[in-house]
Amino acid sequence: MAGIKDNDGPEDLASLAELMQAPEHAPVATGSLAEGEATPKITRMPEGIEVVERRLGHATAQWVLQVHCECGRRWFEMDAVEAAQCPRCGLLVLVKIEPQ
Ligand SMILES: [Zn+2]
Repeated sequence: MAGIKDNDGPEDLASLAELMQAPEHAPVATGSLAEGEATPKITRMPEGIEVVERRLGHATAQWVLQVHCECGRRWFEMDAVEAAQCPRCGLLVLVKIEPQ
């Protein structure tokens, strides 16, 4: 039976205890950050670990319903409609939402 082994990793990986240990001369921030205060930059990491800082942006999104009439016409609805009128054949169609 297959299982997950705990100590299967490479021998040269630092242990969690070593990673969590702050060097004695490194500044250690305590307490929580005030609103709007920037997080301190990471200045030191254990050897072999690369840290890349990137700007995090924001995006907006909407779910769009693609409706496919039995006549072959496709169109989009911005809301989860139960029924719609086909713009091509004029048929009132019940919309069954299929799982992805
Ligand atoms: Zn149609």
